[in-house]
Amino acid sequence: MPPPSSAHSPLLKARRVVIKVGSALLVDGRTGRLNRRWLETLVEDLLRLRRRGQQVLLVSSGAIALGRRQLSLLKGPLRLEESQAAAAVGQIRLAHAYKELLENHRVTVAQVLLTLEDSERRRRYLNARATLETLLGLGVLPVINENDTVATAEIRYGDNDRLAARVAQMAGADCLVLLSDVDGLYTADPTRDVNAQFIDEVRRITPEIEAMGGGSASEFGTGGMATKILAARIAVAAGCHLCIAAGRPHHPIRRLEQGARCTWFRPSATPIAARKQWIAGTLRPAGALTIDPGALRALRAGRSLLPAGVIDARGRFERGDTVSVLTPAGAEVARGIIAYSDSDTARILGRKSAEIEGILGFRGRDELIHRDDLVLLQLSNP
Ligand code: GLU
Repeated sequence: MPPPSSAHSPLLKARRVVIKVGSALLVDGRTGRLNRRWLETLVEDLLRLRRRGQQVLLVSSGAIALGRRQLSLLKGPLRLEESQAAAAVGQIRLAHAYKELLENHRVTVAQVLLTLEDSERRRRYLNARATLETLLGLGVLPVINENDTVATAEIRYGDNDRLAARVAQMAGADCLVLLSDVDGLYTADPTRDVNAQFIDEVRRITPEIEAMGGGSASEFGTGGMATKILAARIAVAAGCHLCIAAGRPHHPIRRLEQGARCTWFRPSATPIAARKQWIAGTLRPAGALTIDPGALRALRAGRSLLPAGVIDARGRFERGDTVSVLTPAGAEVARGIIAYSDSDTARILGRKSAEIEGILGFRGRDELIHRDDLVLLQLSNP
C-alpha cells in the first residue's frame, strides 16, 4: 500500500469528518436497487476512520432513488408529492441498510432527518447541534438526510451537498468529503471540452471558480458542480476542509487516503476560530452580562462563564443569541453565545449550576456561555 499522500492529510488529521454520499453511488441507475457491495466497502472505510479515533458523520442521499423503484416510479421526473412519497418509502430502506451493515460491526447508527429550518433558524440550529454532539459523544454514527417527506419546494435544501456543508458547520467538523460521480473540479465540463483541466486545490473561491460549476450530469442526484461549490463556500467559511472526490470505485475513502485525485478546498481558519470570528463580529449583541472579578479571572484562564459569576443581565435575548460580557465598571471584555433566554438568565444568575434544574424545572447546560462559544476581546484598559 503506498504511503498516504500529504495532500490528503486533512482527511487523516481531522478529528471530525463528514462524508456525503450521492444517490448515483448508492443506487444502481438501471435497476433502482441499492449497490450493496459498494456500500459494504464504504462502511469498511468508515470503520477504519473510527478505529483511528476519528468521529464520523454520514450524510446520505438515496431515499428518493430507492423509493422510486419500490413505488414503480422509475421513469421521468417526479412531481413534488411523488418525491415526498418516494422519500418516505426509500428512507426506511436506506436507514435499514446502514443499520444492518454497521451494527454487524457493533457500531450503533442514528437516523437524523433535517429540514432547512434546522440550519437556518438559530434555536433549531442549536438543538440539532446539541443532538449531533450528544450522539457523537455516545459513540454513535449519525446517518443524516434531508427530511424530504415534509420539505416542500420553498423550504428545502433540495441537494445534500449544501445539507452536508451545514452539517459540517453545525458539528464543527474539520473535513467534509463529497463523494459523487465526478472526481473533482475542472475548468470546463470534461465530458464536452477536451481542453478541460483538473483543479486539485482551491485556496479561494473566486468568481472564476464559481463559473466552473456547470449543471448536474447525473440522472439521480440533484446536486451538480454548482451546488458543490456553494457547499464549499459554507464549509471553508466554517473552517472546514472540503474535498470533491470520485465515489464510484470500491473503498472510496481508502483510495483518497492513498492519493487518488480529488479537489481540495482549503479553509481560511479552524472551525473554532471561524466560529469565534463570527461571534466577535456580531454587529449588535442582543444583551449584556456583568460579571464579578472571579468570573473574569476564570474567563481569562480559558474557562466557561457560569451563572454563579454573573451579577446582572440586561437586554432581550433568546438562547443562542450573542451577548456582551462586561466588567462591573462596564468595559466589554468578551462576547459569547448564551445558552439561556433573558428571563431564565435573570432567574439563575448568581446561582450554582447544580441549582439550575431546581429553579427552571429543566436541566440545561451548566454554563451560561460555554468556552467554545466565547471570545475574549482585546482590552485597552483592563
Ligand atoms: N435527499 C435526497 C434523497 O435522499 C437526495 C438529495 C440529493 O440528491 O442531493 O433522495
